[in-house]
Amino acid sequence: NCKNADDVLKAVKENNISFVQFWFVDILGMLKSFQITPNELEAAFEEGMGFDGSSILGFTRIEESDMVAWPDPTTFQIVSWRPSDRPVARVFCDIKTPDGKPYEADSRYVLKRILEKAAAKGYTYYVGPELEFFLFASPKCPEILDQGGYFDAPPLDLANDVRRDIIFNLQAMGIAVEYSHHEVAPSQHEIDLRYKEALAMADTAVTYRVVVKEVARKHGCYATFMPKPLFGENGSGMHVHQSLFKNGRNAFFDAGAEFNLSGDCKAYIAGLLNHAPELVCVTNQWVNSYKRLVPGYEAPVYIAWANRNRSALIRVPMYKPGKEAATRIELRCPDPAANPYLCFAVMLAAGLKGIEDGYTLPNPVEENIFHMQEDDLSKHGITSLPGSLYEAAMNLKHSQLMKEVLGDHLHTQLVANKMKEWDAYRTHVSEFEIDKYLPIL
Ligand code: GLN
Ligand code: MG
Ligand code: MG
Ligand code: MG
Repeated sequence: NCKNADDVLKAVKENNISFVQFWFVDILGMLKSFQITPNELEAAFEEGMGFDGSSILGFTRIEESDMVAWPDPTTFQIVSWRPSDRPVARVFCDIKTPDGKPYEADSRYVLKRILEKAAAKGYTYYVGPELEFFLFASPKCPEILDQGGYFDAPPLDLANDVRRDIIFNLQAMGIAVEYSHHEVAPSQHEIDLRYKEALAMADTAVTYRVVVKEVARKHGCYATFMPKPLFGENGSGMHVHQSLFKNGRNAFFDAGAEFNLSGDCKAYIAGLLNHAPELVCVTNQWVNSYKRLVPGYEAPVYIAWANRNRSALIRVPMYKPGKEAATRIELRCPDPAANPYLCFAVMLAAGLKGIEDGYTLPNPVEENIFHMQEDDLSKHGITSLPGSLYEAAMNLKHSQLMKEVLGDHLHTQLVANKMKEWDAYRTHVSEFEIDKYLPIL
């Protein structure tokens, strides 16, 4: 594990590294990468590497387009899926302007900024995402590879070897894996990572997506994080387990309190519930994301929390005596096609807002909300998440909190990009319409 530039330069020599990939993401969390030869590395640590920002989605600066990528030495890692002879390594980068200021469209910076705000209050933010994905025969159509379901073992789980290989690759990249299994839908899988601090986990989530895709490709199949590729089946979520620590202790735990949850935890949940309509455009950023958030597929629709109930937006896993450190809440709406940096940033911002302003937590809803009728829902005061990207983008646009956490530039860019996507979708004439209308109208 490298701590500084000198460690990296030493590791590059010792391992006979051929190229170093410089990684960062655009505002939608799509990975961008360029590679340099080891000769350039020392200068890159001293001066950064310049690139054309105007070609990166959301990086449009009116003044000028020169941007500089600064490698973060602590993220140096040999890449597991490239040849082991003359290996390739990668580093994550921070993006700065030529005058050395952090660039406001850099997702990593957005997350760092809110983490600093939390740190100033004494909090460390831990997250544990569960990224689900499908394995298909190719990217051209969602052709499933097996008929397995939840926890099915081989021979129903045909992708056993693919998952095993993914896990070995993740471990080779220094990523701790807790467990893995076949998921509910056919050809759907999940590999769970051990929780860590949010910035490192956002980098890890980006790496996870690359590893899953690269390993799948080696096995001749295609891995996708598309939220809802199959009609009538579960979609892919990225539930995010979250907790705040203060002075080395879990600040969500309180032995004497109701549900063993501290005041901070309750206010944090209330913050998430309260601001969920504004933040889903970030945690669920595609037209397709909203086809997953429908009743009946273990994905949340209604804004409520529960101790066990998996139909709620937020679930609090049951407390096990002696396991204070594991006290956490699980937000179930995000999907694995989100930008992990912005996803973690907006969740933390909403939770902190709840703590700062002392939001009160509504009662948990332990009944299956999917089975409730309209009047039951309103009796419990339960509202719904936005039903479409359009609604979500409008909420994002008008949210003061989202403007603050994302910064004006990124907020504006994101809203504009999402409205453009919505418009392209809205005006598209789909198979559904042709099938349904052409024969009768
Ligand atoms: N796939 C479900 C979702 O969309 C989650 C299923 C599960 O993990 N139990 O969120
Ligand atoms: Mg899981
Ligand atoms: Mg799951
Ligand atoms: Mg879960």
